[in-house]
Amino acid sequence: MIQEYQLRLLPEQTVNEQSLKQYIVREKGITPESITTIRILKRSVDARQRTVFINMQVRLYINEMPVDDQYQSVTYYNVEAKPSVIIVGAGPGGLFAALRLIELGVRPIVVERGKDVHERKKDLARISREQAVNPESNYCFGEGGAGAYSDGKLYTRSKKRGNTEKIVAVFCQHGASTSILTDAHPHIGTDKLPRVIENIRRTIISCGGEVHFETRMEALIITGEEVKGIETNTGKVFLGPVILATGHSARDVYRWLFANNITLEAKGIAVGVRLEHPSALIDKIQYHHEAGRGNYLPAAEY
Ligand SMILES: Cc1cc2nc3c(=O)[nH]c(=O)nc-3n(C[C@H](O)[C@H](O)[C@H](O)COP(=O)(O)OP(=O)(O)OC[C@H]3O[C@@H](n4cnc5c(N)ncnc54)[C@H](O)[C@@H]3O)c2cc1C
Repeated sequence: MIQEYQLRLLPEQTVNEQSLKQYIVREKGITPESITTIRILKRSVDARQRTVFINMQVRLYINEMPVDDQYQSVTYYNVEAKPSVIIVGAGPGGLFAALRLIELGVRPIVVERGKDVHERKKDLARISREQAVNPESNYCFGEGGAGAYSDGKLYTRSKKRGNTEKIVAVFCQHGASTSILTDAHPHIGTDKLPRVIENIRRTIISCGGEVHFETRMEALIITGEEVKGIETNTGKVFLGPVILATGHSARDVYRWLFANNITLEAKGIAVGVRLEHPSALIDKIQYHHEAGRGNYLPAAEY
């Protein structure tokens, strides 16, 4: 039997599966031996009142084993012999376009002006250490795109542009923690994001796709009304349909498009401001307690 419950718990009751199980056994009158698995479906912290609660939606498997996976994996088949599409840019847009093409039986050829996500880190260190910016490898350019060295918050305002659950599952399939499936504010983490990006690249290559670093698109090849491919700074020409996933920082690309009479449409942009506070202070304010987050709560969000 499968039962789902909405629970409101104290932080110490959620600290591990054992304490959660004890609570469920006591409150729901279920024998501990009959519970084979507890799956957390959603988890959020409610710190609006003086007493902080954890809201959880859980699924119990009673006297049966779960047959479903925690998330639905995507099967990526070999596309080596399939028609190719060129993707310019290995940011989130380009990488997910590549995965989707593989799903659809098309071979992606990703062309990225920056370096791979690990090499790129050295150039970021040079920015802090020597104030020297490599114009092709920096916080905006390189594998993983503009947010690759952010804290990896998975944030979208869009509710209507597709299946965000699938995106989160694809991240898990590539090494992100499965906690992002349930957290109200899913967060991959700066330390894990580069590995996840690298794993996505491995999927692309192992399926027969290509990823070319330090290769900048310089021009589209256009015949009549049709895009035929791209020219790059290495002299290499790639022929085929093109997906431009160059992000908002590639001004040279947009200048080229404008100069070549390609219709461009302005889009509203969100401008963010980053404020940093000591986490101990935020914990104290958000959890209404001098001791801050204590032993059982995560770092508070604000
Ligand atoms: C500092 C920072 C922190 C952020 N933190 C977060 C966060 O925590 N959570 C979140 O959801 N969003 C975050 N964002 C926003 C997020 O990074 C962007 O929304 C996202 O990266 C856009 O993806 P994209 O693939 O469209 O473009 P981009 O990420 O900009 O990727 C474009 C890629 O194209 C490449 N490229 C450009 N021109 C060429 C060319 N001519 N030839 C070849 N390659 C080219 C670039 O090198 C780049 O890798 C952050 C952004 C920044 C700048």
